[in-house]
Amino acid sequence: MQSDLTLLEQVKSGKIWGFPGGIHPPERKHLSNQTPIAQANLATHYYVPVKQHSGKEGEVLVKLGDKVLKGQPLTKPSTGLSLPVHAPTSGEVKEIKPHISAHASGAPELTLIIEADGKDDSVPAQPFNDWQAPETDALIEHIKSMGIAGLGGAAFPTYIKAHPAHDIELLIINAVECEPYITADDVLMRYHAEEIIEGVEILLHTTGAKLCLFAIEDNKPEAIEVIKKACEHKNNIDVRVVPTKYPSGGEKQLIQLLTSQQVPSKKLPIDLSIVMQNVGTAFAIKKAVIDGLPLTERVVTVTGESITNPQNLWTKLGTTVEDLVAQCGITAEKDQRLIMGGPMMGFNILDSQMPVVKATNCILAPSKYHVPPRGVEQACIRCGDCAAACPAELLPQQLLWYSKSQEHEKLEEYDLFDCIECGACAYVCPSQIPLVQYYRNSKAEIRQAEEDKAKAEKARIRFEQRQARLEREKQARLKRHQEAAERRRQALNQDDSAKDKIAAALARAKAKKQQQSEAPKETGKLEDTSTAVDNSTDAAPNQAIDPKDKVAAAIARAKAKKEQKAKQALENSKSEQAPYAESKSSPTHEAQEQATDEKTPEQIKKERVAAAIAKAKAKKAKESSNENEQAAADKSTMTEESITDKQDVDASESQALKTPEQIKKEKVAAAIAKAKAKKQQAKHNADTLTEQGNE
Ligand code: SF4
Ligand code: SF4
Repeated sequence: MQSDLTLLEQVKSGKIWGFPGGIHPPERKHLSNQTPIAQANLATHYYVPVKQHSGKEGEVLVKLGDKVLKGQPLTKPSTGLSLPVHAPTSGEVKEIKPHISAHASGAPELTLIIEADGKDDSVPAQPFNDWQAPETDALIEHIKSMGIAGLGGAAFPTYIKAHPAHDIELLIINAVECEPYITADDVLMRYHAEEIIEGVEILLHTTGAKLCLFAIEDNKPEAIEVIKKACEHKNNIDVRVVPTKYPSGGEKQLIQLLTSQQVPSKKLPIDLSIVMQNVGTAFAIKKAVIDGLPLTERVVTVTGESITNPQNLWTKLGTTVEDLVAQCGITAEKDQRLIMGGPMMGFNILDSQMPVVKATNCILAPSKYHVPPRGVEQACIRCGDCAAACPAELLPQQLLWYSKSQEHEKLEEYDLFDCIECGACAYVCPSQIPLVQYYRNSKAEIRQAEEDKAKAEKARIRFEQRQARLEREKQARLKRHQEAAERRRQALNQDDSAKDKIAAALARAKAKKQQQSEAPKETGKLEDTSTAVDNSTDAAPNQAIDPKDKVAAAIARAKAKKEQKAKQALENSKSEQAPYAESKSSPTHEAQEQATDEKTPEQIKKERVAAAIAKAKAKKAKESSNENEQAAADKSTMTEESITDKQDVDASESQALKTPEQIKKEKVAAAIAKAKAKKQQAKHNADTLTEQGNE
């Protein structure tokens, strides 16, 4: 239920609220918080990644072989969200190259490798003495130049949160340190409480917050005591002791604990007029502003059952995990795990050359008994334990489902980005499902897709802008040409001599055109004239001829030509018909033709049929003495002949309708065919007789 009290009135009551979910894993903090903070040994080489914060990396200021001093800037911030990094010790820049990053992926990042000279000489300190001045811009710039980033894990540039655009009412110092094993903040508070409170006062000044709540988990009684003592005279700093529960140190969870307010999804604490800083960050701000020292080292807990001397060390940024672990000693068990961070939110160290960076708070070498490796992943049994443990009130099993099927829209619908990757769900999962890994992968995929989309959108806008620019230039060019043409036209109108020149040019062009069009007529006249000279000697050579006369002459020529052609055709026809004419002129033929001509077609037909029958009878009588086969053959022949004759008779009927010339030709052809048939029959008979003789 929402209270009517203001934010400050509500928190000043001192009440501690709660948040849903959460777990209570074994704390194991006693391993490393029993001794003061030690100093990490000076290493021979430091690996300083140029990007150790959220945002963009800076621009490298040094080159190979450069001598550097501790605290010297190695990069300068680029535009946007960016911070510099500083040399952790004095020495020489030996290499600038990609090196394994302090990230779960271990993806190589550009790294400056400094070979220490062993002197650890520093650049002069640059304190910001007038930090209480009302104008804070220079102070914020100083904090930025010192490379201060959030030391709680996110490494967000502090200069942004130290001077937010919103009005801030409440500053929360997060000293909860809820993750098991880690004690860096605990020991820092125990041994540097006064300095931390100085840093808090600077933050109160820059943010303009009216109140600071200093939140510490109740499992750090020594720290609570010294911090309370350090701020007992500070009216605007209240210490809040919160119950131990993981993840109380989550930003949204701690705000809910201290104020009862929930930061809405996709919103930030700043939207509730709240800003939160890690206790280590407050200490770093004190060092940067009052002592004038950039961020070159931090407290790192080196702990775990396999570490011989678990402890906290002031560790220079860029120190390798190998160097740190070697200093503390390790009794490695089989398949010893090394984790950067705690057992809940940390990640496996893939290479012992991985460097300590601004966000590194712990190097953990746990035993398998206390932090057992994850077992084989099994299917989700929908027990719902993960949902009960989730402090963000999400549905982890649904997120798992959509993460596996890569349904990005559904993941966003189920508020994937409200997941703080605390690992509480995976911790309680009986199926050993590495839920947080699935969520991290999906977040990376979605961010990549959004980046790609943004790039494509930028490209589209650039393209459209270019098109618009080209169109503008084209229109401007056209306008310039039109204006220039208009100016020329106006100039011509005003210039009389120019007008005369144009008129003269036009006249010349016209004359030339006329001349060209008349030239063919002249040629035609000459041709006609020559013809006239040929046809009539009386006509004068250049005398013009009447068109009618020309037409008459042409018709006459055409007629003459036609007659000539007809005459020629007649002569050719005569010469072709000459032999035929000769044959037609013989008396026998003439008589026959005459007789035939005198008969009717029916008479001719009858006569021919009768002749054919008589012929067949005669033949039959002549061949009646031959043998049966011969008779059969003859009969066949006769039959054929009869048929042939019959066909002849039929044919003669049609022949009666033909011209005499056609009839004659057909008769000749028929006679030739008949003779051939006869000859073949005779040959056949002879062959038959020969065969009979042989038998
Ligand atoms: S805890 Fe594991 S098994 Fe149970 S519902 Fe969640 S994901 Fe499934
Ligand atoms: S890791 Fe995410 S989903 Fe799992 S419990 Fe934590 S906030 Fe909830």
